[in-house]
Amino acid sequence: MSKFWSSTVRKTKPYVPGEQPNETNVIKLNTNENPYPPSPKALEAMQFAVNDDLRKYPSPTVDSLRKVIAKREDIEPENVFVGNGSDEVLAFAFQAFFEPNEAIKFPEITYSFYPVYAKLYDIPYQTVPLKDDFSIDVEGMCESIGGVIFPNPNAPTGIALNLNEVESIIKRNPNQVIIIDEAYVDFGADTAVPLTKKYPNVLITRTLSKSHALAGIRLGYAIGSSELIEGLERIKNSFNSYTINRITLAGAEAAMKDDIYYDQTLNQIIETREWTKQELEHLEFEVIPSQTNFLFVKPTKITAKELYETLKQQEIYIRFFENLEDYLRISIGSEDDMKTFVNEVTNIINSIK
Ligand code: PMP
Repeated sequence: MSKFWSSTVRKTKPYVPGEQPNETNVIKLNTNENPYPPSPKALEAMQFAVNDDLRKYPSPTVDSLRKVIAKREDIEPENVFVGNGSDEVLAFAFQAFFEPNEAIKFPEITYSFYPVYAKLYDIPYQTVPLKDDFSIDVEGMCESIGGVIFPNPNAPTGIALNLNEVESIIKRNPNQVIIIDEAYVDFGADTAVPLTKKYPNVLITRTLSKSHALAGIRLGYAIGSSELIEGLERIKNSFNSYTINRITLAGAEAAMKDDIYYDQTLNQIIETREWTKQELEHLEFEVIPSQTNFLFVKPTKITAKELYETLKQQEIYIRFFENLEDYLRISIGSEDDMKTFVNEVTNIINSIK
């Protein structure tokens, strides 16, 4: 504690991100990044954007990218908000739509940034335990006082609700904002974007960090009614009108137009995920069915912590959560990464038999 810190800093408990080791030869399966490079068209567009125009501020309204996103999602540009990663969009949404004296609801096991934002902005919250199969308890998410937020698919479990379940959460929170964090939706779940046309209280957040392999440029967006989008714009413009830099903008636009590359890499990741699931099941892991680019697993022959630590010594990074000590989250890497991973896990398990 420093005497110079404000009361806000004193009460803040920052999010602890997954390890980002400096070495380049590690196999990194701990922060759900895409193992493939970004679209070559996106890389080219970003190189092209490194020019004299960088002396000028970027567009504060991000119109051209909003148009590209709107076309792709079959909505209007006024229904799109763009931010510096979906983490930033989520932070703005907490400020724009939740109140300090009205408890919001989110699942007990979920993205660990939600309680961080809630504490930062003094928003009380109630956590809803997952069901026995690790899915979100739809009934428990209904009738909130101050609003609802959940990822679909959920993280770190990887399980998605279907659209009927999502719609019943919306219907039973008619006067509250429902934020659906679709960071991983592209890997196999149904998007709730069509529901934003029917319900003005639904905000969907998305990211280019996972399915578009662009975590490094920090680009996220939200889709919702124009009144929700205007609320987010008000917060953003009171904070920093130019959150999206020119290079990011160029890369994001090109990536979102390159559907062929996107489909190829996405399908490969899904295929590798299913292969990895099968291999781990042969090794007697409990593997939760995933609709994301990661697997949530429970080893039975070794403790989760021991496996995490032993793999780390061999420069393979997976995610261990102190509060979920029996489970591990494994991001899906390239085919080669996952073969090496499965071989190492097999060796480790055989060596303790
Ligand atoms: N939501 C969920 C559920 C996530 O797992 C992540 C990535 N850690 C994010 C949002 C944030 O992604 P980004 O800020 O890279 O868009």
